[in-house]
Amino acid sequence: MTCNFSAPVRINDQVRPALFTHDEVIVLFHEFGHGLHHLLTRVEDIDISGMHSVEWDAVELPSQFMENFCWEWDVVSGMSQHVDTGAALPKDLFDKMLQAKNFRSGMLMLRQIEFALFDMHLHYDFKSDGDKTVLQLLDEIRKEVAVIVPPAFNRFPNSFGHIFAGGYSAGYYSYKWAEVLSADAYSMFEETAENAVVNPKTGSRFLEQILAVGGSRPAMESFVAFRGREPELDALLRHNGMETG
Ligand SMILES: [Zn+2]
Repeated sequence: MTCNFSAPVRINDQVRPALFTHDEVIVLFHEFGHGLHHLLTRVEDIDISGMHSVEWDAVELPSQFMENFCWEWDVVSGMSQHVDTGAALPKDLFDKMLQAKNFRSGMLMLRQIEFALFDMHLHYDFKSDGDKTVLQLLDEIRKEVAVIVPPAFNRFPNSFGHIFAGGYSAGYYSYKWAEVLSADAYSMFEETAENAVVNPKTGSRFLEQILAVGGSRPAMESFVAFRGREPELDALLRHNGMETG
């Protein structure tokens, strides 16, 4: 794994160790999830082993799944300490980090949903020679999901590079869908938590049913084999501070 992280710093003659931000730790866990997907594969054919040939909207499951551990108090408190005193991260500081993460999470989620719906409708049922313009399509979607509607002169589609220049055409939804999958998979660990959030049985199930099989079968089959049912939204909403009743 090659990551572009903060380097150690030399001050006068003293070398201070590299201090990672929480964001960098999340990236490390994320990429390590991709690493595990490759390392723990049991598929002999390279084209469908590890991450290869896993559907676009499920390939981030193992990586985003790993990010969850960075928001687990038992995990974070065990792997962090003050650089000079060695003291543990204060719990109230961690709680504030959680609150900051979830601040406006509903608005951010709606924004992603607006983009995803716009992208999907553009490619699915929009007619370029019909009487509706691209902007009118976006307006309709905003009426459905947006809380704050941008001013009429807004031309967001003109710079929506992801779907017009970035290869995400009809695939923008995969960002959110991968979060649904990874959050719901992680909630299995929350439900079966033994030592902190870890449970060896759930862990080997994740290994056997998700990581080891790679793209050798449809991702939904792998998910159901692991989770025992199809994906549900509840865990993602809960992890974003939006409790469901
Ligand atoms: Zn990734």
